[in-house]
Amino acid sequence: MRIAIIGAGFCGLALSYFLLRFGKSDLTLFDSKGIGGGASGIAAGLLHPYPGEQGRRSWRASEAIETTAALLREVEMTTGKKIASFEGIISLPQNEEQMLTWINHSQRFKDVELIEGNAFLITSGITVNCQAYLRNLWGMVAERGGCLIKRSINSFSDLEGYDHIVLAGGNGIAHFPESEKLRFRQTKGQVLKAEALTPFQDERSTVSKGYLAKGEAPGICYLGATYERLFTSVEPDRAIAEREILPKIARFFPDVDQLRIISCSSGVRVARIGHYYPIIAHFPPSKWVFTGMGSRGLLYHAYLAQALAEAIYTGNAAKIPSEVYTQTV
Ligand SMILES: Cc1cc2nc3c(=O)[nH]c(=O)nc-3n(C[C@H](O)[C@H](O)[C@H](O)COP(=O)(O)OP(=O)(O)OC[C@H]3O[C@@H](n4cnc5c(N)ncnc54)[C@H](O)[C@@H]3O)c2cc1C
Repeated sequence: MRIAIIGAGFCGLALSYFLLRFGKSDLTLFDSKGIGGGASGIAAGLLHPYPGEQGRRSWRASEAIETTAALLREVEMTTGKKIASFEGIISLPQNEEQMLTWINHSQRFKDVELIEGNAFLITSGITVNCQAYLRNLWGMVAERGGCLIKRSINSFSDLEGYDHIVLAGGNGIAHFPESEKLRFRQTKGQVLKAEALTPFQDERSTVSKGYLAKGEAPGICYLGATYERLFTSVEPDRAIAEREILPKIARFFPDVDQLRIISCSSGVRVARIGHYYPIIAHFPPSKWVFTGMGSRGLLYHAYLAQALAEAIYTGNAAKIPSEVYTQTV
């Protein structure tokens, strides 16, 4: 089977990996910027089932987190590189209502524990070194015969002779006419990379109104994030990022002045309007759009990539959860 995938972020790479694991195919990835050139390359690396202001447990969280965790461990085992910390993530509720939600979580869900007065440990939480994950996952795809062409694709008709073409282009899908049939919105996000001038007391990431995600080396962390609905440029704007992010961090990390900001990165989240479920749109027989991860890219990319790979291999779209599947003509 000849398969083309547009986009080498979390979605495109995980899909490539599962397609090559299911069977032999002639697989080409196209990306205008290379591996992790979109939002995946700058993501802070937080993976847990309770993102968002309300902290509700996400749809199919257990299956999704399990699939990503298995893939992360497989990448670590195959490459011998440490790409994630599986030590849990701390959640600090910001008000009484959230406190009640988290107390309720700790009673209902096995992966939430009250550890101090107002701090909860999400034991299933993982902090991923996204750059290393993408690089090493790509290495495994290449090892199985996947090929990468650094080129911008402007429409499905640019690619001929493929049995399936999957557009996993993140924010880049907006340029494809097929995306007009999908209702999604774009939100710019920025993160700050910082270095702690005094050692952290706890090496786990913390989420509250903002978040502090532990980075690839001791003392390095990522502070986030902004949620900019109205933006004129996708480029980082450090002044805006510092103005929006640092006050959120100061509310739960009083030593914020002990953090030296190193750099600022930006990306665009693509999310379905009215819901957070991702999108797998099928334009039969052979075109697909795989997107809409919003802030849950790490949670859902592997779970849905596996389902989509199975659907492509078996020719049975019922392998894809109906909540995310849409068929469009
Ligand atoms: C600031 C910020 C922080 C975040 N932090 C987290 C986090 O901690 N945890 C989490 O789970 N999620 C996080 N997210 C969300 C996460 O980054 C996204 O959900 C995820 O990266 C989406 O992956 P993707 O593969 O769909 O898209 P992308 O990663 O954007 O990949 C799309 C790829 O397609 C390529 N492309 C686009 N158009 C074309 C074209 N026409 N031709 C060729 N190539 C093309 C791009 O170069 C890019 O490499 C964050 C997002 C932002 C903005």
